[in-house]
Amino acid sequence: MEADRDMNNLNIQFKIKVLKFFNECEMQDISIFMTEGFRTYERQLELYNQGRTTQGKIVTWTMNSIHRTGKAIDIAFSPSKYGVLYPNDIKLWNKVFNIAASCGIDSGYKLWGCDKPHFQENPDFDKNNLNKYIMETKFQNAIQNKLCDSAASLLSALWNFATTEEEQDQVAEMKKNILKMKNE
Ligand SMILES: [Zn+2]
Repeated sequence: MEADRDMNNLNIQFKIKVLKFFNECEMQDISIFMTEGFRTYERQLELYNQGRTTQGKIVTWTMNSIHRTGKAIDIAFSPSKYGVLYPNDIKLWNKVFNIAASCGIDSGYKLWGCDKPHFQENPDFDKNNLNKYIMETKFQNAIQNKLCDSAASLLSALWNFATTEEEQDQVAEMKKNILKMKNE
């Protein structure tokens, strides 16, 4: 099921804040866009099942997500500007969290220490299973970081076997991209 990227399906008061938030980011030369807003029950169920009964990484702990009420959005950075959707530059994220706060929007990361791309109307959320979710997320991130480190050290070793400058550049580029996938 496709993510809903139509701002018109957001709660109207929240939408006004979101427009202000995006506008303020643009003024500060930060390029972000909305990857998801309102969620139907079916979409929430699909996401809830991910990593539990279906393939993928666990992405939510609750069926009562604030996305269901149209009072939450997920964002990503412009890949053409930053090279990736989710840069691991915490300073950049902090700027966005502060801009959101100045527009009356809470960030998931400030509220529960993970879910950097999640922003919502208020902290009045369902905390059921939250601690379990935080642990799972931290565990998944740690595994991902370990895999990235292993891949990067393999590529370092491989670099020594490259016979041309072109091959060396290719390996170096792969290593750079792998390290971008690490979580801070
Ligand atoms: Zn979200």
